[in-house]
Amino acid sequence: MKKEEYDVIIIGAGIGGLTIGSLLAAERKKILILEKNYNLGGYCSTFKRKGFTFESSIHAINDCYNKGDIANIIKECKLGKNIKFLIPAYTYRSIYPDYDIRVKQRSPQEFIRELSRYFPKEKKNILRFFKEMKDIFYTLKQIHLLGYPPNKKIIKYSNKPFDYLLDNFFDDQKLRGIISQYWVYCGLPTSKLSLLDYCYLWCDFFINGSYYPAGTTKSLINSFATSIKSKGGEIINNCEVTKIIIKDKEPIGVVTENGRKFFARLIVSNIDYDKTLNRLIRQEEFKNSSSVKVVDKDNVSLSAFRIYLILNNKLRDFSDDFEIFLNPNYNIDKQYLSSVNNLPDDAPVGITMYSNLEKRICSENKYIIAITMLSGYDYWKNLDNSQYKLKKEHVKNLIIKKVNKVFPRLLDRVEFMEAATPLTFERYTGNTRGSIYGWNKRAGFKQKVSFIRNLFFVSNWNSKGGSVAGVMKVAKSTAMLIKQKL
Ligand SMILES: Cc1cc2nc3c(=O)[nH]c(=O)nc-3n(C[C@H](O)[C@H](O)[C@H](O)COP(=O)(O)OP(=O)(O)OC[C@H]3O[C@@H](n4cnc5c(N)ncnc54)[C@H](O)[C@@H]3O)c2cc1C
Repeated sequence: MKKEEYDVIIIGAGIGGLTIGSLLAAERKKILILEKNYNLGGYCSTFKRKGFTFESSIHAINDCYNKGDIANIIKECKLGKNIKFLIPAYTYRSIYPDYDIRVKQRSPQEFIRELSRYFPKEKKNILRFFKEMKDIFYTLKQIHLLGYPPNKKIIKYSNKPFDYLLDNFFDDQKLRGIISQYWVYCGLPTSKLSLLDYCYLWCDFFINGSYYPAGTTKSLINSFATSIKSKGGEIINNCEVTKIIIKDKEPIGVVTENGRKFFARLIVSNIDYDKTLNRLIRQEEFKNSSSVKVVDKDNVSLSAFRIYLILNNKLRDFSDDFEIFLNPNYNIDKQYLSSVNNLPDDAPVGITMYSNLEKRICSENKYIIAITMLSGYDYWKNLDNSQYKLKKEHVKNLIIKKVNKVFPRLLDRVEFMEAATPLTFERYTGNTRGSIYGWNKRAGFKQKVSFIRNLFFVSNWNSKGGSVAGVMKVAKSTAMLIKQKL
């Protein structure tokens, strides 16, 4: 039988696997992508219920502006005109016990005005704070894009949590809470969250905007798959990799669930760090390496509880909104702990009104929305089926009750409702603890990286990954490395 040989085998067809596959296929490298599910995309996938399309995870993507990194990657992959991003009118709407704030897209000045109106005594500090954030952001961009060395400020701020910066500007707990709204996109409270990582994400959304792919992430994923195949790349779905073949401490191929073997000079893992190193590779191969050990749960980002709904009527007061956050209080540490413990009354929830932006996914009088709460994994594990179902129903009902207070008559309008827990996300993608972003972005934490020659991590689990834009950028830098090796 002919040996099946490739330049690069990619394990997993998440956004990371498809992006690097497309970049390498565009260079005429012989690539093979193996995906365990029928659907491609991992977290960037959609599913159908009652004839309607639901986004399994994604609601807002950064870095997609014209000439931004993602636009450039898409251009390089020659996905062409098929890919368009929609821009909601507001980056988000944030509802607190005493405030209702809409953040207009790409208008930091307007946000400054709005905050200064609510907190007039803090106007000067608000201006100073925005200036500092912008300064850090553009310096980080120079470091990432142009290879500049970190300056004194960046060195001072590295390893510090975001609260360190807030302490320099504000005492007002409410203002601190409002400015830190995006902690929910990072999954760690500002007392622990890396100052530099948060600053980058915050400025990218505030300055460059928030985006959602036209036609759902399905259009993005399908365009990648079509482009890969048109350039001679192969994608096999329903094909789980169960082993990475190692020879002389280097990977040379993979074995799949049904016993097929494929060989390549280089292997890319688009999947979970722990599963790659501890399940697909036999520990004995690297007996002396201290890096092969089980992932510590404190280093893994939170997961989510998500409710998918079809409504039979529009929520009129919210018809201009896409992303809405409901905040029960201003205390981020309390919000975080409530999320970890699945206590919706004190945890923030995000409501994404998909039909307000992408009209093609709704029909007359049918509206698609999703409600997301960050969710700790341990609450869900070791339950039998009926206990799990009961807990799921309980958390779902608490969230709906909470949202119903702000969206009057939401419950009357629900035609369909289904929920996903951290266990659902873990089962579907294989990410440890259903982790949203892979490693936590904790101040001072050094994420682990691959120590095996010719095995690359292009996923949430690369030290620079986490988020669609983050993983796509890792794919780009890894593709450049791989091209030099082939
Ligand atoms: C609820 C939720 C909401 C989110 N919202 C956003 C958002 O709005 N914006 C944003 O930027 N990010 C968001 N994220 C994060 C974002 O989805 C991820 O950072 C990103 O999609 C990760 O992509 P990936 O390529 O690393 O891999 P994944 O999406 O994890 O895909 C890995 C793929 O590998 C496959 N696989 C696993 N094991 C094997 C195996 N052994 N053999 C073959 N195939 C295998 C899986 O089936 C999967 O298809 C969200 C995540 C969640 C969970």
